[in-house]
Amino acid sequence: MTITADVLVIGGGGSGMSAAISAATSGATVVLLEKCPKVGGSTAMSVGSFTAANTSYQYRAGVNDSIELFVEDMKVANGEFEDRENKELRRILAENAGPTVEWLSSIGVQFLGPTQEPPYEKPRMHNVLPNSSAYASALLRECKKRGVEVRTSMRVDKLLHNAAGEIIGARANGADFYGRRGVILATGDYSASTEMKAEFVGEAAAKIPPVNPNNTGDGFKLGTDAGGVMIQMDRLYEGLRFAPSKRPDPIKILPSHPLLAKAMRLVVERLPKKLLAYVIRGALTSWVGPNNTMYQAGAILIGHSGKRIANEDSDKLMARAAAADEKNTAFMIFDERVARKFSAWPHPVSTFPGVAYAYVDDYKRYRPDVYHRAETIEELAASLGVAPSVLKSTVEEWNADLANGKDRGFGRQHLGNGVNEGPFYALGPMNAYITLADGGLAVDTQLRVTQADGESIPGLWAAGSTGQGGLQLLNHGLHIGWAMVSGRLAGRNVAQAPNRLDLAVENAVVS
Ligand SMILES: Cc1cc2nc3c(=O)[nH]c(=O)nc-3n(C[C@H](O)[C@H](O)[C@H](O)COP(=O)(O)OP(=O)(O)OC[C@H]3O[C@@H](n4cnc5c(N)ncnc54)[C@H](O)[C@@H]3O)c2cc1C
Repeated sequence: MTITADVLVIGGGGSGMSAAISAATSGATVVLLEKCPKVGGSTAMSVGSFTAANTSYQYRAGVNDSIELFVEDMKVANGEFEDRENKELRRILAENAGPTVEWLSSIGVQFLGPTQEPPYEKPRMHNVLPNSSAYASALLRECKKRGVEVRTSMRVDKLLHNAAGEIIGARANGADFYGRRGVILATGDYSASTEMKAEFVGEAAAKIPPVNPNNTGDGFKLGTDAGGVMIQMDRLYEGLRFAPSKRPDPIKILPSHPLLAKAMRLVVERLPKKLLAYVIRGALTSWVGPNNTMYQAGAILIGHSGKRIANEDSDKLMARAAAADEKNTAFMIFDERVARKFSAWPHPVSTFPGVAYAYVDDYKRYRPDVYHRAETIEELAASLGVAPSVLKSTVEEWNADLANGKDRGFGRQHLGNGVNEGPFYALGPMNAYITLADGGLAVDTQLRVTQADGESIPGLWAAGSTGQGGLQLLNHGLHIGWAMVSGRLAGRNVAQAPNRLDLAVENAVVS
């Protein structure tokens, strides 16, 4: 079977579908190949925040923002990583994020916000309503409206080139698909590739499971086989999240129909902030792990053995330690003093910036399955299913270390106040996950995949996580922003590229 269109898009997440719509809107015929039975990718599994400046949401909220201020705030958020930033791509993101929020709104995506997130000076976070599956349904609906041929359960494993070596298509499930004007790689990140995680970050990180098991880094392999290069592949978002609730997540189960989302926006914009926070708190306690400040105040992390497992100063070390054990289970233990502190502002257990904060009691109410309280350490251990004698000596050792001002086990710096004032509490089980992997194929400002010498590879574009190109994206809402912005730009650029199928198709497989 051979199918030919002007543009071939590989991957049906946020970047791929944005690219397909943008190419189709520019007059191109488009085929999109998605390896899963459903489109959406990580985009549809995400929290869904989209950070942007100069949006109508900001204007309505009276926020006076600018591209320059947005760029300046991204510099601050980058901190030590600023030197690595791809500043050209950052400007493209800053300039196009706002128009892309408007574009998404025009196809039926509704947002709540903008909300503020430090260190940004202006409220820029737009949270999709009712949840991130709204991106997938709106984009898919628009793909269909624009005549994009979306083929699911099609895993691309080869790129095809013409006699001049230009990329002109791809092979999926043994069938050949041609994109006369070019091919866009939009296959997400590599957080589910054990080999790539081991190669770029290390064996300990490679053991941590991904949130999205389909992020196998296929586009990186396809891109490098064609001559592209991977850059800045050394950063993973490793962390602990609560085990999924058995109760349905109140926000995730809401249908994402555009009329419902619109009605919801009108309602939530008028809800008193306190009531809105109440609604969102239920979802917050399902998605997000506890803030590190709880460890700094005195909490400790234990594994299912009842022993401490890592230096609690570091998310990365805690996640790696939990994942090193096949049970991948950890609990946070703390005492009444910490519980009191994390029962009111400004000390939330978990945070949805600017919108909702969850405190200890919220876990009791919304996540009784991960909330434990007992009068003694032994009773607490029994509630967790760990050996009481082991947990008791873990706590005694920790308190003794504290008295001596030194963590003998792991060298933790922020010791806090100890675990000595009953009643005692635990939050968990928590499991280690990799939410996403940064890095990407090197791309130019047109989103063309480039080789080590900076020359672009004719016919090959990349978007989203696959085409991250050295962008740092170090604040919430920038990954989705980049997925949609880069997809739209890549789609428009490919649609305007020359027809490469004029050249004879021979030896068509890049091996
Ligand atoms: C739990 C979670 C929460 C997050 N929250 C946020 C947030 O609130 N804000 C934010 O900015 N970012 C967030 N992120 C990150 C963000 O979701 C992603 O970085 C972004 O959505 C990536 O978009 P993408 O289009 O590049 O990839 P995806 O959306 O993952 O799409 C890639 C698609 O390509 C398909 N594919 C892969 N290989 C092939 C192949 N060989 N052939 C065909 N198809 C293939 C995949 O199946 C997938 O559908 C979150 C991520 C997770 C996991």
